[in-house]
Amino acid sequence: MSDFDFIVIGAGSGGLASARRAASYGAKVAVVESGRIGGTCVNRGCVPKKVMWYAAGIMEEIRDAAGYGVRVSEPQLDWSLLRQGRDAYVERLNGIYAGNVTRENITYLEGEASISDPDRVRVAESDYTCRHLLIATGSEPTVPDIQGSELGITSDGFFELDSMPERVAIVGAGYIAVELAGLLNSLGSDVTLILRKTQLLRRFDPILRDTLMEEMTAAGINVVSSSEPARVTKNLQGSLELTAINGEGQTGFDQLIWATGRSPRVAKLGLERIGVRQDKHGNIIVDEFQNASVPGIYAVGDVTGRYPLTPVAIAAGRHLADRLFGGKTDARLDYEFVPTVVFSHPPLGTVGLTEDEACDRYGHDSVKVYTTRFRNMYHALTERKTATAMKLVTLRPDERIVGLHVIGHGADEMLQGFSVAVRMGATKADFDRTIAIHPTAAEEFVTMR
Ligand SMILES: Cc1cc2nc3c(=O)[nH]c(=O)nc-3n(C[C@H](O)[C@H](O)[C@H](O)COP(=O)(O)OP(=O)(O)OC[C@H]3O[C@@H](n4cnc5c(N)ncnc54)[C@H](O)[C@@H]3O)c2cc1C
Repeated sequence: MSDFDFIVIGAGSGGLASARRAASYGAKVAVVESGRIGGTCVNRGCVPKKVMWYAAGIMEEIRDAAGYGVRVSEPQLDWSLLRQGRDAYVERLNGIYAGNVTRENITYLEGEASISDPDRVRVAESDYTCRHLLIATGSEPTVPDIQGSELGITSDGFFELDSMPERVAIVGAGYIAVELAGLLNSLGSDVTLILRKTQLLRRFDPILRDTLMEEMTAAGINVVSSSEPARVTKNLQGSLELTAINGEGQTGFDQLIWATGRSPRVAKLGLERIGVRQDKHGNIIVDEFQNASVPGIYAVGDVTGRYPLTPVAIAAGRHLADRLFGGKTDARLDYEFVPTVVFSHPPLGTVGLTEDEACDRYGHDSVKVYTTRFRNMYHALTERKTATAMKLVTLRPDERIVGLHVIGHGADEMLQGFSVAVRMGATKADFDRTIAIHPTAAEEFVTMR
């Protein structure tokens, strides 16, 4: 007899969702967590990030107000009040999550788990056995291995800051880098964004990357491209200096944030001991049913390196529990058409293939693209203007939409509904037949020529 039907390592997005779904089928479940319940998303990811993004948006709108005849003085940010409110909100969520676990009779084990055998987990010097074992340990930020890198912080450290950095360097080109750069800039920091190459958001459609680059530059962010940091030093006044491989320097920063990628959190699990296969980045290799290479062991979420997004981890975790305990033998997550939003300034969203991916997969002649670019009517009376740009990637002959991309005011809330249509196989004619909602920016998606 095992102690549990299901042990889940990691009480983050994927782990908790899977544990709760398994418990709903009557399985005897334990969750092991070494940090705070809720994982990255709740404690140092999506949730606190979105709170900061809202604060930054409020600052922008107050500055825009004058154009609409609303007289307000220059907004002042009280960082510590914002932080207090944000942290209290996160704590409330922690409490709700803990309540769910208790109510659903899931055993919560605090401590760092390691796997001694495929059916045996060690936590705080005790061993627990199980029939099925899920690894949902997420990922952690990586920091370049260069002299002085410890003088910088990561996104984790960003959420610990007691005051707003006055002059900040952010190194990275991915979504965390552009999100932090955008929100800090709108909150009032002087931001330098340092790219190793020349582009932001490498895997996104060019219409999004190029527009975002223009908008970030226009908003006053100093974007330094083709600059790979070689060392970081602190001068006598306490400010940080970054020297690039080509010898060029950037100086005068009171804060440096590394947003140079994330790697799977597997170091303490003892995977080698039991032979769980990993790829060259350390991600746990799983098949389409989330099975790892050792029978009875599964992995979901960031630790698998596939679409590191909360809803993906949740969906994969739930499907797995449906399959193992709910009798749904074919349950699995379909990773096609995963929509994603980047909370940049302005925000952007994407679902499906980029134009290049569609051309590579189906051939150039099969792909027909529609684009539009305009100013959102929000900016009719504002001094600040930001662009909106949209692209539909369709496949001939019926013009099925295989990619939909948008950047601009409101893009974040626009994407979810459109991604239902794209997932259902909507064609350009279906979009054309849909009556526009006027005046909105989203209506442009159904009126493109
Ligand atoms: C700054 C930032 C912003 C983000 N914004 C978004 C967003 O807007 N939208 C979105 O969809 N996604 C966002 N993400 C990504 C999202 O947070 C992750 O994709 C998601 O949390 C992954 O869930 P997970 O279950 O795989 O891992 P996690 O949520 O990271 O949970 C893993 C848990 O396992 C625990 N753990 C690790 N090892 C052990 C061990 N050996 N023993 C016990 N416990 C262990 C960890 O403490 C952690 O709590 C963001 C991430 C970051 C860093």
